[in-house]
Amino acid sequence: MFKELIKTNADALDALKNARIVIADERNHEQGSLYEMLLEAGCNRLISTISEETILESLRQGYRHESQQVDLLILSSSIENFDVLQLSQNISKRDASGTPILFLSQGSGWWDENQLLTAYQAGAVDLLMRPLRITEVIPRINLALQYRHERKHRLNQEENLNTELSERRVMETRLNYLLNHDELTSLPSRHRLESALKISLSKSHNLHRTCALLYIDIDHFRIINDTLGHDNGDKILIRLADLLKKSSPDNALIARIGSDEFGILIDDVDKLVAMDLALLIYQELETLVCEEMDTQMNVNANIGVVMIHPGTDNKTASEVLARGDQACHIAKNRSKNRIYLFNHNDPEIKELQQNRQCVTLVRKAISNDWFELYLQPIVNLSDNSNSHYEVLLRLTDNTGETHSPANFVPAAESSGLIHKLDFWVVDHALSLLEQLPLDHANISLSINLSGDGLETPALLELIKNKLAYHSINPSRIMFELTETAAVKDVQKTRETIAKLRAIGCRFAIDDFGTGFSSFNYIKNYPVDYIKIDGMFIQNLVNEPTDQILVKSMVDIAHNLGKKVIAEYVENQETVNLLRTYGVDYVQGYHLGKPMPAAELLGLY
Ligand code: C2E
Ligand code: CA
Ligand code: CA
Repeated sequence: MFKELIKTNADALDALKNARIVIADERNHEQGSLYEMLLEAGCNRLISTISEETILESLRQGYRHESQQVDLLILSSSIENFDVLQLSQNISKRDASGTPILFLSQGSGWWDENQLLTAYQAGAVDLLMRPLRITEVIPRINLALQYRHERKHRLNQEENLNTELSERRVMETRLNYLLNHDELTSLPSRHRLESALKISLSKSHNLHRTCALLYIDIDHFRIINDTLGHDNGDKILIRLADLLKKSSPDNALIARIGSDEFGILIDDVDKLVAMDLALLIYQELETLVCEEMDTQMNVNANIGVVMIHPGTDNKTASEVLARGDQACHIAKNRSKNRIYLFNHNDPEIKELQQNRQCVTLVRKAISNDWFELYLQPIVNLSDNSNSHYEVLLRLTDNTGETHSPANFVPAAESSGLIHKLDFWVVDHALSLLEQLPLDHANISLSINLSGDGLETPALLELIKNKLAYHSINPSRIMFELTETAAVKDVQKTRETIAKLRAIGCRFAIDDFGTGFSSFNYIKNYPVDYIKIDGMFIQNLVNEPTDQILVKSMVDIAHNLGKKVIAEYVENQETVNLLRTYGVDYVQGYHLGKPMPAAELLGLY
């Protein structure tokens, strides 16, 4: 019977056989006792006892060695030598991980309701009634064993969870530290400075305190790193951090806010003290001695000082930091004592802020494709034909406002984004030619290029590939290179111009006459056209000086074999005058204003 019962569950049989079970029952040695039943079932780790001491000792062994752990304690409800209920209570109070206790009653109805309740309260998980039937006893013992197993499993899980939680807490603390501190110098980080700035701003606002931020940028730190190596660069940064700590007042917060930038926030300080501190730091850095490297460093710093006055417009912490950065930028342009006190009314600051806003605008425009090509006609005066256009870029932002390149091109140039614009314009202008219907095959375009655009080999490749891929005749493309453009590598630019002219593209010098070395330019660069700057043309009819200058520019250009374009032609009198001078092409509002390319060429 038992075998059949147990056969159905091999795992249960295994658990039962290996379980360490203590049975405290005065009738253990009687035939048909629970002890006998379990022996017969194959339990080989049974302990039979009626001594309280043996029970406790068995439990103790289990606490000391896991292999000796008691899996189940079966207590007869009455044992002469001791109080079973009391023992059970004591054990379950102390042994929370729980050896399950099973009560064995003397006979059915032997315990009344109260006693049953007391037994459960004393920690019993189950109660077996005599007479015992093996088919009932074994499953219930198995259940009690499982109970223990699950309780242990739960406790382990809880323990694991606690360990995990405490590990996570340690990690969070570490991350928090890293977020708020710079690892190299151990100084507070930019994040930490921003938090402190928020507090200073509210102190200034609510308690009418004046605070100051010193924004310190180390000049040419990259060169220090490149020449002395990064290890030495690190040592210098640590020395710098020490110096800043030593020079600053006790209540100052000194933070490393960029790779070579530091910020010092001082509460409750007036402008003179803040400026004095800036000067002191500036001078000390100039004679910085790095002991590890046994050398004097002469570190040059630029220091921007921002005062936070009560009731002024320092709105947010990041705005104050941005002002510090701007002040630092202006300080950099000073010839000596490169310290600058931020003043939002200073035209230099206004210009810088506009430039930065423009850079942000251009970045957004690039990623959102906010650009459009406009075309303005350039008329051939020999036959009044009109098949050549200058490509002019327009940027329309998300509010619908259209910006002139005169505003955003300088920002794009100063931030290096101009290459992307040049690429975009060349790419789209050539695509435009390719899309034109056959009856527009005579249309040609002038494309403005930035100064160092021609030093980028990738642009030359793009032009060559696009022309070849779309089978566009290269003579339909002219490039305008402005005379005032900052060309860094004259030789390279000359070579690129020569390469593009060799495949048939044409070149013009734009804004001719505005620079100091116009004639040098014309000598240096192999171009086909010169475009006289609009400022000589706009008032030509009324300006005898302009007339003399324009006439001589035309003569020189023609003598050098170059054709002449005049821009900013705003009335017919100017056209007539230019015609008498022998100017070849005219462009200006009188001949046609810039218009969206697709509209002008009917490409809808
Ligand atoms: P720019 O090359 O000298 O272009 C001529 C500028 O004069 C254009 O301004 C044009 O709209 C304007 N203009 C044309 N006719 C008249 C006129 O009769 N009277 C007056 N007062 N103005 C006239 P825009 O389009 O604002 O361009 C300004 C400058 O931005 C351009 O000067 C050029 O240097 C630059 N630019 C324009 N498009 C591009 C481009 O695609 N790439 C690059 N790198 N620069 C560009
Ligand atoms: Ca131009
Ligand atoms: Ca021009």
